[in-house]
Amino acid sequence: MKQDNLPKILVLGTGGTVTGTAPNEVSTARYEAGRLALIDLLAGVPALLQYAQLQVETLASIDSKDMHFPLWMQLAERITYAQHDQRVDGVVVLHGSDTLEETAYFLELVLSLAKPLVLVGAMRPSTALSADGPLNLLHAVRLAATPQAQGQGPLVVINQQIFAAREVTKVSAYAIDAFVSPGQGPLARVLDERIYWLRRRYDIPSGPPAVVHLTDVPVDQPWPWVEILTHGVGADARALQALCQSGVNGIVLAGTGLGTLSATVLAGVDAARKAGVAVVRASRCLLGPVLHDIGNDDTQLGMLAAGDLSPQKARVLLLIGLRKGLDQEGLTRLFDQHALLAHLP
Ligand code: ASP
Repeated sequence: MKQDNLPKILVLGTGGTVTGTAPNEVSTARYEAGRLALIDLLAGVPALLQYAQLQVETLASIDSKDMHFPLWMQLAERITYAQHDQRVDGVVVLHGSDTLEETAYFLELVLSLAKPLVLVGAMRPSTALSADGPLNLLHAVRLAATPQAQGQGPLVVINQQIFAAREVTKVSAYAIDAFVSPGQGPLARVLDERIYWLRRRYDIPSGPPAVVHLTDVPVDQPWPWVEILTHGVGADARALQALCQSGVNGIVLAGTGLGTLSATVLAGVDAARKAGVAVVRASRCLLGPVLHDIGNDDTQLGMLAAGDLSPQKARVLLLIGLRKGLDQEGLTRLFDQHALLAHLP
């Protein structure tokens, strides 16, 4: 196909290992993220031009541990603009792998997508022998140029697999097959020239997700402070108390098993709720769900159950709910809709 007729893909860079560089080609752990110019990464993958016309913008060059709320908003606004831009058919976001799942879920919650959106990262820096970034990037661009990528929310492509934003999580600190969708598996696999679709993204039984429009929230409103606390043997309530005394707005408790919490921690939850802090109960297990009023009495304490959301995804949902200014009733509705299986029928 002539270049002019190929889909037009906007590539947005935020940094990460995919544009990381190391002092030598054997280093895959000791490197600096976001050091290679995006254009140089793209220049190393000429095959991209067989699949798309590219427009390239670097929004940031950071390690994704440093991803921050203003950059989230900038990214969301740029992608929103691209939805109305006839010169763009799909968007690819390059992102560090460490917090990629959080950004992907944030974008799912705040955007109404009419065009494919694909997030992509890499586990090995661009200078490594067998760097995985170039192939991941090629797959991301091809996916963003594919009609089947539409209507599935933000997609994540890495290591020849395609995942739904809501389901995906990083499970390895170094391996190139670092991402999984626990209990669900990928949506698709990429092999040579073909994308093999295995299933569509999850469907929320009660209908489509309640999209939180960006315009609902005043730009200058500060972001809430939400932390995750992990429960374990001998956990006590002092961490909860310290956070409450310091002005935290929300806490996600990564409980044991079904999201259970010891009596001591529950006493801390009671105090936190009385101080007006929103509390979500998730599980430190990779596979949920945490069900409302099962394991602990959520109704009595005013806790929200995370359903099948991981603690980090439950935190993103709570951040957005609090930023929107939702009260306990509004938060309950938000979690009812997004935290699947949180309520047994
Ligand atoms: N620390 C890197 C980052 O998240 C890891 C990666 O991209 O794989 O930016």
